Amino acid sequence: FFIALEGGDGAGKSTQAEALAEWIRAKGHEVVLTREPGATPVGKRLRSILLDVSSAGLSHRAEALLYAADRAEHVDTVVRPALERGAVVISDRYIDSSVAYQGAGRDLSPTEIARINRWATNGLVPNLTVLLDVSPDTARERFTEAPDRLESEPAEFHARVRAGFLTLAAADPGRYLVVDAGQEPESVTTVIRHRLDIVLPL
Ligand code: C5P
Repeated sequence: FFIALEGGDGAGKSTQAEALAEWIRAKGHEVVLTREPGATPVGKRLRSILLDVSSAGLSHRAEALLYAADRAEHVDTVVRPALERGAVVISDRYIDSSVAYQGAGRDLSPTEIARINRWATNGLVPNLTVLLDVSPDTARERFTEAPDRLESEPAEFHARVRAGFLTLAAADPGRYLVVDAGQEPESVTTVIRHRLDIVLPL
């Protein structure tokens, strides 16, 4: 069973991913908690290229392909092997992040971004995608460290990213759960658990 957590920077994805992993493990399942970009050795190098402020001005197409390359390596070496042995995989970000950031956020076609990522992942689609939706203002208040290259993008960029995520979710309500991530983290976890109680074969 493959769960993707999506949402803007500061939505609380990693906090929720950890809470869910602990809850599913307590039910006796193997859980692989992973993230993009940067879950593999090559991915870590791609992540540092992508997030370093010195990559300012990186071509948008090159950026999209580097995220897709990170994802291809991640799916081939981490996600698919784990799913094949029956583990529950929770990924902090997946294809929708590319469609939202490199598509809606930049000037690239979301359809084309989705297409290169279908190829990169050989068509692997999550069973459930949880979209943690939060206003960019609330998200920004949560930043504790110096912003990376993407977090430094203007508010309009983050507003387009948010709208991009919501458009994806609206197109496929059966696979998405949209949660108001401006709530307390415990309330967000409760909402996600309710959905998992229904869809996760436990
Ligand atoms: O979620 P995390 O903080 O690890 O993501 C790293 C950075 O990469 C974030 O600033 C996020 O906005 C950006 N990102 C992106 N496009 C993706 C995935 C992440 O711009 N496809």
